[in-house]
Amino acid sequence: DAATTRFVANHPKSAELHQGALASLPGGNTRTALWTAPFPISIARGEGYKVWDEDGNEYNDFVSDLTAGLYGHSHPVLQQALVQAIYTIGTNLGGTTKYEQRYASLLCERFGLDLLRFSNSGTEANIHALAAARRFTGRRKVIAFRGAYHGSVLAFANGVAANNVDPEDWIVCQYNDVVGLEEAFQANKEVAAVILEAAQGSGGSIPANPEFLDAVRSLSQEAGALFILDEVMTSRLGPGGLKGVLQLKPDLVTLGKYLGGGMPFGAFGGRADILSVYDPRSSSSLAHSGTFQNNALMLNAGFIGASQVYTADVAEALNRRGDELRAALNKAFEGTIFCVTGRGSLMCVHAPKNGLRPQDIACKDDVAPFEDLDLKKLFWLEMLEAGFWLQLRGSIALNIQLPDEVLSAFVDAVRGFCKKNIG
Ligand code: PLP
Repeated sequence: DAATTRFVANHPKSAELHQGALASLPGGNTRTALWTAPFPISIARGEGYKVWDEDGNEYNDFVSDLTAGLYGHSHPVLQQALVQAIYTIGTNLGGTTKYEQRYASLLCERFGLDLLRFSNSGTEANIHALAAARRFTGRRKVIAFRGAYHGSVLAFANGVAANNVDPEDWIVCQYNDVVGLEEAFQANKEVAAVILEAAQGSGGSIPANPEFLDAVRSLSQEAGALFILDEVMTSRLGPGGLKGVLQLKPDLVTLGKYLGGGMPFGAFGGRADILSVYDPRSSSSLAHSGTFQNNALMLNAGFIGASQVYTADVAEALNRRGDELRAALNKAFEGTIFCVTGRGSLMCVHAPKNGLRPQDIACKDDVAPFEDLDLKKLFWLEMLEAGFWLQLRGSIALNIQLPDEVLSAFVDAVRGFCKKNIG
């Protein structure tokens, strides 16, 4: 179609680089979520709230590295933190350092955790939280939810444990469905844990409702199963994450993304009695020895970012602006097949089924799969042409450097799209 033809014409260098990448990367790709057909745009650099592609096109960054880019690009405080670590500490010291304790203590206080351990990614944090839950309970089965994404080997987009090494250990329930969860617990007596995003991220920015959150807590407790709250994406939604905003009482919490200050990061923490399965003073403890999990760049930039940049005030302001943007977008989409779900600084454009309103969308099955929607692809292509870099599936993550004028300009661009293409 015409928009795709213009896309190809506007990105000759990206096309050429993609051709070259095919020789050494499967499909020219090393991050599945960044693949777009016919080829992905090759990003050359980022600064502030903008990115530029190899063809010189400039975009306002609404992808924000799938939420990890909360600080925007080239934040001066983080640049300084990284440079300081490189020149005065080193990168990997091969020994225990005081920087671990300093950052762990900040994160424990902020997210209400007794103890925590660092890892290299959110995926690893979840893998190790699950290992802790299995060791602590002596059980194997885990309940997850359709549409959930807990990392590359822990993805449940279509209700199955895709890529998982132990698919038989998983029970996949519908999100926001209390009865379904009760039935799963009745049918399975040996559940080690329930793992939950309190607002689904990759599943399409769909928040959990309060009754469902209460049920996850009470049903897991009754069954002797642990409640693992995956805050890898949602920790940005309040000063103490969604755990703080919604007063949740999980047994374990996993963290990731922006908390590495731009460096690879993951962490899992919570109840001291559970975390003690990783206490090396005990001969029966679980091993967890990742080479890079105490690297100095992450420990310094993460600590400085969390303590000096993403303070409680900044978190509250960003999420308030996100709520305002979502309301404005829903107004712009009124009368069209689209609407926007989400919470705070995270949101996603959807075509709901059966005329559902955004607040009534409870799970992935309430919205049309984006792959089926030519209009959604057109939306993505036209937003690119208007200078807005979004994720193909329609998800948006704000970064703290995006100014109000750019958010308003985006709403205007959405209004223009609706007028031109939807009537
Ligand atoms: N959990 C959630 C909720 C996520 O959104 C992600 C990444 O998108 C992960 C876990 C995995 O984190 P990572 O990509 O750092 O492995």
